[in-house]
Amino acid sequence: MDLTDSQFHRYARHLILDEVGEEGQEKLLESRVLVVGAGGLGSPLLLYLAAAGVGTLGVIDDDVVELSNLQRQVIHKTASLDQPKVDSARATVAEINPDVRIVPHRTRLTAANAAEILAGYDLVADGSDNFATRFLLNDACYFARIPLVSAALLRFDGQLSTYKAHLGGAHPCYRCLFPTPPPADLIPRCEEAGILGAIAGAVGSLQAVEVLKELLGLGESLSGSLLVYDGLATTFRKIRLKRDPACPLCGPQATIRDLSGHGTEHPLP
Ligand SMILES: [Zn+2]
Repeated sequence: MDLTDSQFHRYARHLILDEVGEEGQEKLLESRVLVVGAGGLGSPLLLYLAAAGVGTLGVIDDDVVELSNLQRQVIHKTASLDQPKVDSARATVAEINPDVRIVPHRTRLTAANAAEILAGYDLVADGSDNFATRFLLNDACYFARIPLVSAALLRFDGQLSTYKAHLGGAHPCYRCLFPTPPPADLIPRCEEAGILGAIAGAVGSLQAVEVLKELLGLGESLSGSLLVYDGLATTFRKIRLKRDPACPLCGPQATIRDLSGHGTEHPLP
């Protein structure tokens, strides 16, 4: 693939970076990333990945745009109220960069459809807001051997990591940290706990940086580390994550062997 004159202009600030260059930009244009959730994290993810020229962006979300979303979900506009989020996101991305093809999946990710939806993507970025989806994606990406860049938000805080446990070695998976999902009523979601809108922008933008790094093979991967952002204290902590030899997914005695959960007790949506 050769860049057009207009693409040389559009991506000039990437091309001037030795670490990206023409080869890196062509790689981005040929990359396929699935963004899960077109919400608080999905908005900055989709905006920056589209602007960067990631050629195919899948977006999965079954919600419509509500007024209370607009305080942080900046890919949607007031005029898009009541529209499916995947359609609203597609319209905004088309205005930003016509090089990008959006693949809308207007559905909810389940154990039954995950493998089919993930097939063909190079990387998954999790911007979902619940533990069931986070665990499901961890398992589905592990089985499909797709890197997962996962983030979460609460009130004034955020956290971020990359999971590539399918590569073996020291790479942990999400279940190495949390073997099973917590009870649903233990962890509040944004709608119950609140969220300062710009926190979603900060963490979603960090997540977009990690996605671009993984696609381009740049720098130090966040696999094996958890980045914890405290917005009120303005601190970032990087916590080392270890692979758990007793992990039910990626350990040698794994009890989870497929997404259906046969023979396991892990709840999936
Ligand atoms: Zn694991």
